This record gives sequence, structure tokens and C-alpha cells, in this order.
Amino acid sequence: MMLPADYHMHTPLCRHAVGEPVEYARHAVAIGLTEIGFSDHSPMPQDDFDNWRMFDRQLDEYVAKVRLAQAAFPQLTIRLALEVDYLPGHEDWIRALAKRHPWDYFIGSVHYVSDSWDIDNPAKLSEWKKRDAYEVWQIYFERLTQAAQSGLFEIIGHCDLPKKFNIRPTQDCTALYELFLTAAAQAGCAIELNTAGLRKDCREIYPARNILELAFQKNVPITFGSDAHAPEEVGMAFPEAISLAKSAGYQKTLRFKNRKREVVALSPA
Ligand code: ZN
Ligand code: FE
Ligand code: FE
Ligand code: ZN
Repeated sequence: MMLPADYHMHTPLCRHAVGEPVEYARHAVAIGLTEIGFSDHSPMPQDDFDNWRMFDRQLDEYVAKVRLAQAAFPQLTIRLALEVDYLPGHEDWIRALAKRHPWDYFIGSVHYVSDSWDIDNPAKLSEWKKRDAYEVWQIYFERLTQAAQSGLFEIIGHCDLPKKFNIRPTQDCTALYELFLTAAAQAGCAIELNTAGLRKDCREIYPARNILELAFQKNVPITFGSDAHAPEEVGMAFPEAISLAKSAGYQKTLRFKNRKREVVALSPA
């Protein structure tokens, strides 16, 4: 089976991943992937914004590490990308980042629902106890919708990230998903099937089946990502993600080069 590209993986520059890009690439080749993309956490305008991303001055070093992997594994297509945090007001910063290197794609992710709360940060788990889960979902999806509308990203990352710790609202959130997916469809923005959710408390791929089915109805394209923070996580649970995508109706996925898309078939199982 021809596996889709794994477009979401990190490097030690973000301070919470292990293994050099060459090691991620080696694992990708070993498990039969033909294309991967590095999408490490982008720098912020202030280096001390948090402690889980590269510093601005390390951006060139990041690109050099990816170039090393490309040179070491010419049989593997390796794309150069970033997982960029979307916060309202950061648009100019993100546009400037885009000009600094010849990126193949940007994954836009919302981790922050305010400047001080990254909802997926285990160190801030206690914050969830102070908040109403539905309110968090509302703010998160409002920001995610803005991210899709911004036109700054080819792919929206782990689109139901708030479920990470398995703290879920009792209310029906379909209307929030509808707004986001309509915006993504209009902007021509893809969502990713991110298998890291299987390694978290929620024990589910991001996004959940009901969101993916809605995405398919609205013609929102998909990509695949392991969100690997270690070489052996590359391509993790891809067979499961592919069967989820197909059961939601998908027969196609995307690949990116120079921020331009190409539609490719999801090969038969
Ligand atoms: Zn990370
Ligand atoms: Fe993320
Ligand atoms: Fe990531
Ligand atoms: Zn991520």
C-alpha cells in the first residue's frame, strides 16, 4: 500500500522532541513512506513567549537540519514546513515568517485560547478545572475559524485539539464545527488526520469521525500527520487513519510543494 505523506513532525529545536531530522527520515524510509514534511513549532515574535518552540535566531538552523536530511535520503521526498501558532493579531508576523525561507506549506494550529493558556499543555491542566469546557471549545473554534479564513495556512492542525485530555463539553458542538469547516472549505484550506491523539488521554485521532464526515460533505481536503516528536513515531497509526478517512468518504489527499497543492489518490488498501 502506498502511504500518504506524513506532513507533521518536529525536531529537538522545539525543546520537547528528540531525534534529528535525519533519524526521522531514516524511520520514514524503513516503514515505506515516500514523502514526509517537517513542521516544527514556529518561533514567536518574543522568544520568551513560552518554552516549547525554537528561538527566532534558530530558524536558519532548523532549515539546515531539514536540508541535511534531504541530502542523506534522496529517495525520500522531504518537505520544509512549519507548524505556526495562530493567535489573532499575529498575521503580520506569520506573513513575515513566510518570506524567510522557501516553505512548502504552513500548518496553522491553535494551541492558545488566550495569550497565557495553551490548552494542550499538561503543565496547565489545572486551568481546565477553572473553565467551562464548552466555553473553551467556543473560543478555540472561533480562533480556528479565523485561522482558516486568514489564508495564511495550507493545512489546519489537529482541529479538535481541546479533546486531548478527554475533558469534553456536554453540549452539542456541531454548530462550531460547521462554522469552522465552512470557512476551511471557502478558503481552500485542508485539515489533517493527526494520529497523535491516539497517544493522548482522548485515545482518538484528531479529528473525530463526526467532524471528518462533516468535512467530507463540505469538500474540505485532508492531509495526514503523525505529529512525531521522536523518530519512531513517524507514520504512526497511518493504516488506522487511512481507513478512517476512507470510511468518511475520502478517496483523495493532498501534497504540497512551494505552497502549491497537488491532489493525489488514496491508494486502495
Ligand atoms: Zn510539540
Ligand atoms: Fe500542535
Ligand atoms: Fe506538532
Ligand atoms: Zn502539533
